[in-house]
Amino acid sequence: MDEQELRRSIIEHCRMMNASGLNQGTSGNISARYGDRMLITPSAIPYGEMMPDMICSMPLNGRDGEWHGPKKPSVEWRFHLDILRSRPEIGAVVHTHSMYATILAMARKPIPACHYMIAAFGGNDVKVADYARYGTPELSEAVTTALEGRSACLMANHGMVATGLTLKKAMWAAVELETIAKQYYHSLLIGGPVILPDEEIAGVLQGFASYGLQDRPQPSQAAH
Ligand code: 13P
Ligand code: ZN
Repeated sequence: MDEQELRRSIIEHCRMMNASGLNQGTSGNISARYGDRMLITPSAIPYGEMMPDMICSMPLNGRDGEWHGPKKPSVEWRFHLDILRSRPEIGAVVHTHSMYATILAMARKPIPACHYMIAAFGGNDVKVADYARYGTPELSEAVTTALEGRSACLMANHGMVATGLTLKKAMWAAVELETIAKQYYHSLLIGGPVILPDEEIAGVLQGFASYGLQDRPQPSQAAH
């Protein structure tokens, strides 16, 4: 994907995020790695009005807060940048204020192994990053800590962060996290879920290493 395509794809994913009900208004933001730069949504621009040239470019190893473009970057540029810098396996970051993830984050309830899909985020839980005000270095520190060994986290009294190798995968993770948050929330209303044991989640993680990787050649295909 060239830079223009990636800029367009970021905007498409922002619009999808709102159209699917995963986010509302100008809340949330999306970034993607492009070589040694990060492309990130500008701050407070309605997604319907966002144009590819408004996407900000920030060097991954530039001066503190260095950015290029006609609009200021998202106020959350710092945690997007710190995630991309410290996690080379991550190519895109989605931040939303989706309903059920945010409800659990307000109650500061991490999501336990209430469903096997918890393993999609790398382990047996999804943690809640400690509260810090939006846009602060403290919030970035809290988010990167809660993401250790995981691909997503909740953010206390704020929302969620989901990541992936590509924008498509990061958005998939955001949808899955909102789904398990909704399921967990509802299970709490009927007495709480039975939690799967760690060994079971370890087995699911092993299975996930080969599950759903349809973009790679499959053995039967290779034989043709
Ligand atoms: P931006 O519009 O600056 O990206 O902020 C939205 C948000 O979700 C802040 O946490
Ligand atoms: Zn936010």
